[in-house]
Amino acid sequence: MFIKGCGPSLTLRKMEALLRRLPLEDPKRPIIENDYGKYLAGFRGEQSLVYTLSFLNEKQYLIFHDIRLPIKNHFFQIDYLILSANFALILEVKNYVGTVYFDPQFDQLIRTTQQDIEETFPDPVSQVEQHRSNLLIYLHEQKLGTIPIETLVIFSNPYTQLKTTQGNHKITKKVIHKEKFLHIFQGLENKYSKEFLTHKAMKKVSKIIMKSHTPLNQDLLLKYQIQREILMSGVHCPICFTLPMEKLLGKWRCNICDHQSSKTHIQSIQDYALLVDTKITNREFRNFLDIPSASISAKLLNSMNLPKEGKSRAVTYQLIIDE
Ligand SMILES: [Zn+2]
Repeated sequence: MFIKGCGPSLTLRKMEALLRRLPLEDPKRPIIENDYGKYLAGFRGEQSLVYTLSFLNEKQYLIFHDIRLPIKNHFFQIDYLILSANFALILEVKNYVGTVYFDPQFDQLIRTTQQDIEETFPDPVSQVEQHRSNLLIYLHEQKLGTIPIETLVIFSNPYTQLKTTQGNHKITKKVIHKEKFLHIFQGLENKYSKEFLTHKAMKKVSKIIMKSHTPLNQDLLLKYQIQREILMSGVHCPICFTLPMEKLLGKWRCNICDHQSSKTHIQSIQDYALLVDTKITNREFRNFLDIPSASISAKLLNSMNLPKEGKSRAVTYQLIIDE
């Protein structure tokens, strides 16, 4: 059963909002588009595993996608955690194209694309082993008992060519293509026949994990050194992402795809929450969405039933980022 399903991360959604709002000619666009491409490929790789994981027994396994847990004074992030009464399994998912070579001498991964471009990445086996140590510390700190923890690195693209030196068993046992997962998983089920957690204990672990999960909340304007004033204003079309839509007779209308809706500003103001602040005044709302008058702006804000703070002109509305 998916306890935490496979939705896009907060960072991915923030990057999409930034690319919608950043002027096309901005010199920082190529860097951000490149970063976004990497995040998106990673997310698509993780998403492609949902089908495979749907074959696991719903009642027996709890699945958590993309969880970020605290230990001591830092956080660690896991692509997938699969928990049963008998064992836990951490998956690190990689979605690379081309050939990847696991260099055992320096514990690094070298990826070569079809265009013969070489790129070096940290060794995912060491990464997933680090997650394992962190999870053990987390379970201990939270007094959740002990359970055997297994790890796997999964390549989600069946066409990625995996290479290493002969006899590098550390890699061949730990790194697999997605297609081999269910077979390997069955082996783990057979290996762990002893129960470590009762049904009640599993429920408790699940509840505590969800409570301590803290999504990474980056300020992308700060990260990429972008002034908020340069962000494009207006209501964007939720279908073709054109900016801005026109306001006509109580509706927003897209000039490109002709999509019409009276509620599109609700989606657009999410961009403000994702990029600028989760608090907004009438004036900021009006400026960000390019609303012609303060009274229309007040009417739209009130219709959204947002929690408010302060009085009259000083009132600020609390924006909640949709899950
Ligand atoms: Zn449109």
